[in-house]
Amino acid sequence: MTVDVATERRYWAPALETQSRAEWDALKLSLLRTHLAHAQAGSPYYRASFAAAGIGPDSLKSLDDLRRFPFINKTILRQRQEAVPLLGDIAAVPESEVVYVSASSGSTGVPTLSPFTASDFDAWMDYEARQFWSSGLRPTDRYCHSLNFSLFVGGPCVLGAQKLGALSIHAGTVPSERLLAILKQFQATAIWTTPSYAWYLGETAQKQGIDPARDLAVRRIFVAGEPGGSIPETRARIETLWGASVYDYYGLSDIFGSCAGMCEEKDGLHWAEDHILAEVLDPATGEPVREGERGELVLTTLQKRARPLIRFRTGDIVSFTSEPCRCGRTSQRLLGVHGRLDDMLIVRGVNLFPSDIEAVVRQDGDFTGEYRLVLDRENHLDTVTIEVERRWGCAVPHGDLAARLTRRIKAVTGVGPKVAVLEADVLPRATHKAKRVEDRRGSVWV
Ligand SMILES: [Zn+2]
Repeated sequence: MTVDVATERRYWAPALETQSRAEWDALKLSLLRTHLAHAQAGSPYYRASFAAAGIGPDSLKSLDDLRRFPFINKTILRQRQEAVPLLGDIAAVPESEVVYVSASSGSTGVPTLSPFTASDFDAWMDYEARQFWSSGLRPTDRYCHSLNFSLFVGGPCVLGAQKLGALSIHAGTVPSERLLAILKQFQATAIWTTPSYAWYLGETAQKQGIDPARDLAVRRIFVAGEPGGSIPETRARIETLWGASVYDYYGLSDIFGSCAGMCEEKDGLHWAEDHILAEVLDPATGEPVREGERGELVLTTLQKRARPLIRFRTGDIVSFTSEPCRCGRTSQRLLGVHGRLDDMLIVRGVNLFPSDIEAVVRQDGDFTGEYRLVLDRENHLDTVTIEVERRWGCAVPHGDLAARLTRRIKAVTGVGPKVAVLEADVLPRATHKAKRVEDRRGSVWV
């Protein structure tokens, strides 16, 4: 696609981005049939998997028929990669066609690799450019990419900004003093990092006598990697600190650096619907949940030739809408990543997501916004203690603050936690990915 430098241009790919829902479904069905045929022809794993299930590309008469295909997950990716090095037999092209591989560390074992052909990579960068454009990035911007470059799938996304035409600064993860110096020297107007780090970096700047809102030119902050970017209270606090707009992005190392991102309306994340088909399923039954309800995100690639993924269980708990957005784009929107199945805490039988607690804590201006959840067990009963910090200068007594927060959290989550109010700046500050849950219940982590 030719880049139109006119900043008035509203959409990167107007016909695609504003087509009707029926046209989206027809496009997905057509892409999926071709993609399943490619998987069957090129991937020994899928050839065997389809044969064992007695299905094939011809089994797909409608999008609902995808539910007849078996799931795949991270464990299978790892096993097949170890069985058939380098890329595993889920890959559907010879290694000679692969031009880029990202690696995701995961918590256990050898990193899993995600391969791209040259055309996969180009299509990915065109998508990244489209997504950046929808978030308001323009060729006149100076974009500072502050994500890890080392084998991380988020690294190459800087080329999406470059394709869009923005002056792109390949900063990577440098120490915060250095990053602040880069932002100041270049007068960068946009940056991509994690929500925790955006907050940390803003506070670090203030401690150095730099007011991010006044002394720096950053007006757009793209964030990913944690739920915070979709929690309005967290986003609002980062926006105030920086005098900038915060746009949440969602990515998955086994597919793309970002698979969805916020447009300027910031009402959910537009999904890369022509590249990835999303199902939202009840994790226990595998059946689809109703639109808007929370369930596990299960993904099927539609175009990625190097390694098709069919019904990949992400472990992320999400909700979606397909209502049209005020921006005029018609793609499905991810309403939020509410947590990971691994992060979901079950306390006295109630499902509890740390992101729900975060939203309540950050609504209340008498707290700094930092928090930690401590889970414990007393007399065979689970207890939750939320440690929060009272803002400097707040005169409300600790007991009143604690009672207020307990009441609000109970109203939202159904669990009445103990609240321990601490003084400001007591809790450890997170830098990149925040760890805010401490489970002292021994083996009961769920
Ligand atoms: Zn929109």
